[in-house]
Amino acid sequence: MSIYGNLFSSAKNLLNRGLEKTRDSLLGKIGKSKIEDLEEVLISSDVGVKTSLKIIENIKNRAEKDKYLNLENIQGLLKEEVYLLLQEKEKEIPSKGQGPYVIMIVGVNGVGKTTITGKLAWKFKKSGLNVIIGATDTFSAAAIDQLKIWSDRADVPLIKHNMGSDPASVAFDTLKSAKYRKDDIVLIDTAGRLHNKVNLMNELSKIKRVMQKLIPKAPHDVMLVLDGTIGQNSFEQVRKFLSFSGVSSLAITKLDGSSKGGFIIGIFDEFKIPIKYLGIGEGISDLQTFDRDLFIESLFN
Ligand code: GDP
Ligand code: GDP
Ligand code: MG
Repeated sequence: MSIYGNLFSSAKNLLNRGLEKTRDSLLGKIGKSKIEDLEEVLISSDVGVKTSLKIIENIKNRAEKDKYLNLENIQGLLKEEVYLLLQEKEKEIPSKGQGPYVIMIVGVNGVGKTTITGKLAWKFKKSGLNVIIGATDTFSAAAIDQLKIWSDRADVPLIKHNMGSDPASVAFDTLKSAKYRKDDIVLIDTAGRLHNKVNLMNELSKIKRVMQKLIPKAPHDVMLVLDGTIGQNSFEQVRKFLSFSGVSSLAITKLDGSSKGGFIIGIFDEFKIPIKYLGIGEGISDLQTFDRDLFIESLFN
């Protein structure tokens, strides 16, 4: 087997493990159910009402045109429909020597922002890029310490101020260092904020504005982190962050402990925001680049 084959199969094994609970739940429900039950199966698998109805509509349309369509094979039909729904756009990949590519990581409290910042720092560093992290969650000393541990693990520098200082000024200093050091990647780990707290949401705009003084195109990517165990509430989080800070990519964490991974299908269908990463554990390497084909294979096989 080629080296790529090996890489592919180990990525597949990891994801298979990460999606185990979601898969068991989904396939368990599909089990012996009939096409009439599909709506309930999908909705109870957190796919979301809109997308569930759309999938059923598509299958009905197919059945009308093709009288030989095997409606007994729910699993096969569903897999095909999900495949058609999840059309991936080309994803931007940061590269060496292009000037700092700034990724601002946003989301509500506890979704895994700081963890994914650490994982990404490690991943980019390992691929040969120069990385720097900014600790703009200045709300507690513990938050800064936690990020320091991750930056040490990943062996990349961290720019931090004291607890309570202005997050935007930390971001400013981080970008200043990044330009000076000629870093390739800047990771801005922001404080968790409830999506219905307008002041805090506005703080994100301020961080962006201040960063643009140094790098007009920053942030190149606003990555919204969603907790994969939450399911349906994620839809509202996406809507709110979209309207306040903009969102250009998604990362979905904690899939290893979740049976609600079905919501990824609905989120993708409804918002068409590229999903970049999946978090499948607490370790530094428990991160997977999202790949549609791999995801669908892991979900249905
Ligand atoms: P933040 O508040 O958004 O910065 O969230 P943290 O990064 O501090 O993570 C909150 C908790 O979720 C921590 O206990 C993490 O270890 C845990 N966590 C984050 N990502 C994952 C994941 O992919 N899988 C599991 N099982 N736990 C995770
Ligand atoms: P209240 O209890 O409804 O008045 O809300 P708070 O103002 O106490 O904020 C609730 C949570 O939001 C806090 O625990 C923090 O996590 C976060 N928070 C509040 N104000 C700020 C702020 O100025 N900057 C940051 N980064 N986080 C904040
Ligand atoms: Mg954090």
